[in-house]
Amino acid sequence: MRMCLCGCVPRMSRRGLIAGALAATAVPAAAAAPADPKLIDDLVVANRILYDQGVVDGFGHISARHDKDPNRYLLSRSMAPALVTAGDIMEFDLDSNPTDSSGRTPYLERFIHGEIYKVRPDVMAIVHSHSPAVLPFADTHTPLKPMNHIAGFLGSGPPVFEIRGTAGDASDMLVRSNNLGRALAKTMGQSQILLMRGHGSVAAAQSVRHVVFRAIYTEVNARTELQAMALGKPVFLNEKEAAAAMKTNDGLVDRPWALWKQRIAAK
Ligand SMILES: [Zn+2]
Repeated sequence: MRMCLCGCVPRMSRRGLIAGALAATAVPAAAAAPADPKLIDDLVVANRILYDQGVVDGFGHISARHDKDPNRYLLSRSMAPALVTAGDIMEFDLDSNPTDSSGRTPYLERFIHGEIYKVRPDVMAIVHSHSPAVLPFADTHTPLKPMNHIAGFLGSGPPVFEIRGTAGDASDMLVRSNNLGRALAKTMGQSQILLMRGHGSVAAAQSVRHVVFRAIYTEVNARTELQAMALGKPVFLNEKEAAAAMKTNDGLVDRPWALWKQRIAAK
């Protein structure tokens, strides 16, 4: 493992560490160091920003991989995201069992998070939402593609998860088991965004701030694309443009984060 002079672990090595840890064990350690309070704070703020920006309402959730143990993740108890406080954040293993529920009820669809973390060592945060402008693209064969550089993370268009392929044709549409979460994560592959037919979408990223950026701009891009389709045939970013734009924007997420955070603080 390479380490720099100050002792920090470079990004690629950190990913390697996570991949190794994920492969080594599916059983969480009995006791893990508490998560960084700054990570918990970002997660609480993210819940409120996503509500303020119209990505989540009474439903939807955001998680972060535990910064001290890659085999765990952090997610609120089952409640409206805008009301989440630090005391509502629970810890789960990657099978989505709570490590200490303390009587709190977890989200039914937490398996989305656990199963993606299992197979994507690059992913450190996940948003699941039912944001309204995205749904038409999940429910039709019209692809969601990047309308401008800000949405370069959409690449050549997200895959669509069809729950009937795993749950049959009489499910309640919820990803309520590890088996369904596994199928969803398989459909998502290496994409940053996944659409869920008859349901919503998932965003994944390397940090809480990046995943909030992607969830918000997926919704914005969907609105823009619908408007463009009313005028004519949109010209999307091609794959190379999308990849280059994503790389640039990944270095700029703190700017909109500061704005979105100030908006919720002022309310
Ligand atoms: Zn849902």
